[in-house]
Amino acid sequence: MILKRIDSKILTHDVRSYVFVAEEPLHFIAGQFVQLKQPGAEQKLARAFSMASKPNQTEVTFLMKHNPEGHVSGYAALPQEHISLESSAPLGRFTLDPNDSDRIFVATGTGLAPIISFIETIEAEKISIPFTTIFGVRHESDLFWTEKLPSESLITLSQPSENWSGLQGRVTEFIPALLAEHLHAAWYICGNPEMVKSVRELLLAAQIKPAAIHFEIY
Ligand SMILES: Cc1cc2nc3c(=O)[nH]c(=O)nc-3n(C[C@H](O)[C@H](O)[C@H](O)COP(=O)(O)OP(=O)(O)OC[C@H]3O[C@@H](n4cnc5c(N)ncnc54)[C@H](O)[C@@H]3O)c2cc1C
Repeated sequence: MILKRIDSKILTHDVRSYVFVAEEPLHFIAGQFVQLKQPGAEQKLARAFSMASKPNQTEVTFLMKHNPEGHVSGYAALPQEHISLESSAPLGRFTLDPNDSDRIFVATGTGLAPIISFIETIEAEKISIPFTTIFGVRHESDLFWTEKLPSESLITLSQPSENWSGLQGRVTEFIPALLAEHLHAAWYICGNPEMVKSVRELLLAAQIKPAAIHFEIY
């Protein structure tokens, strides 16, 4: 499927968001990803990006860690007016289990993409299962899209400036308290490999069943 870029925003020094439009609604399950590539490029140059908007729309948003040399993120950022990407069919099993009774979403950096797709879907479908979100980045200047998160979300900086009055520390430091309050929650974790590994280890050590731990490693 060909996706045409219709909007781009510089969110931080290394994160950008893009809105693309397709001819047909893009059917996927919130949390899934596609393989994107430049039109006509070899398959080995396709890169995975999670949808960061709700399913079944002709418009789809992606959140990309910007690498000017990146085959996809660099191309998506080009200033030309007409930029298109070729998309695979939706892939992946990082999707919400409708049988959950409580949910915790844990994201760092652009790992927020599928979590936003979850949240927009939950809002659109008026799903009443409670959820708590924790989002971590390093500095204030790395923050983006916090306005898309419910106001009670936990937003933490691992290396804040002295002016920061919010939560401090890596997301992993907040897991014990979240565990204590959400004994029966399902966990959805997305971000860099070290964070996902550390959070999973903490959850498994607390006897959380593997079936209740969903994760996507970027
Ligand atoms: C299921 C899944 C979903 C994902 N969803 C997203 C998403 O929504 N948003 C997002 O930002 N990322 C996401 N990622 C990660 C993303 O697919 C990769 O980071 C991808 O490589 C980005 O492509 P690119 O076009 O930016 O750069 P690439 O073309 O992959 O790389 C460009 C250049 O940078 C070099 N390079 C790349 N990575 C590194 C590195 N770690 N260290 C040193 N050099 C490097 C390469 O060698 C190359 O020269 C996802 C990954 C997975 C597995």
